[in-house]
Amino acid sequence: MYEGVIQNLIDELGLLPGVGPKGAQRMAFHLLAADPADVRRLAATLLEMKERVRFCRVCGNVAEEEECRICRDPRRDQAVICVVEESKDVVAIEKTREFRGRYHVLGGAISPIDGVGPDDLRIKELMRRLADGSVTELILATDPNLEGEATATYLARLVKPMKLRVTRPASGLPVGGDLEYADEVTLGRAFEGRRLLDV
Ligand SMILES: [Zn+2]
Repeated sequence: MYEGVIQNLIDELGLLPGVGPKGAQRMAFHLLAADPADVRRLAATLLEMKERVRFCRVCGNVAEEEECRICRDPRRDQAVICVVEESKDVVAIEKTREFRGRYHVLGGAISPIDGVGPDDLRIKELMRRLADGSVTELILATDPNLEGEATATYLARLVKPMKLRVTRPASGLPVGGDLEYADEVTLGRAFEGRRLLDV
């Protein structure tokens, strides 16, 4: 335990995901030794992020305006929506350059153990987007693990009366894993070979 400010910093850093007490201490002392200009830039970036970054009102992706870059792009196919768990999955899929439609970011996956149900995700917003019938294909690209599969099945059942083409990226993705960890080629192939999801 340290005095005052340095301990406060260790405590704050320790609240971040993936940072344990040792890591927090190492970061704090790294910052203490760092050039003041570097620390100022980091602090300014943190504040700027909180002030400027928000969530796209259409798809839920991170954005710096009302709508994200992808939703604003008129060249993107309006008829296809790819549903993902997090914004980082959008980045992973964009890297493959296989997908020209738009996204819908759920903000997680259904997980009873963690107390996450359908109402905690942006599912109502998705249903609203599908209501006017302009979307013809829904790609359910939730993670290839238990929660992701459960979420995909839930959504497929929910939209079944809408007679959409509902697909899921093909196998080949590491099972039990996280979409963002698949390499670009594997993820690209999984998109190309997506299969109809029949529930
Ligand atoms: Zn958007």
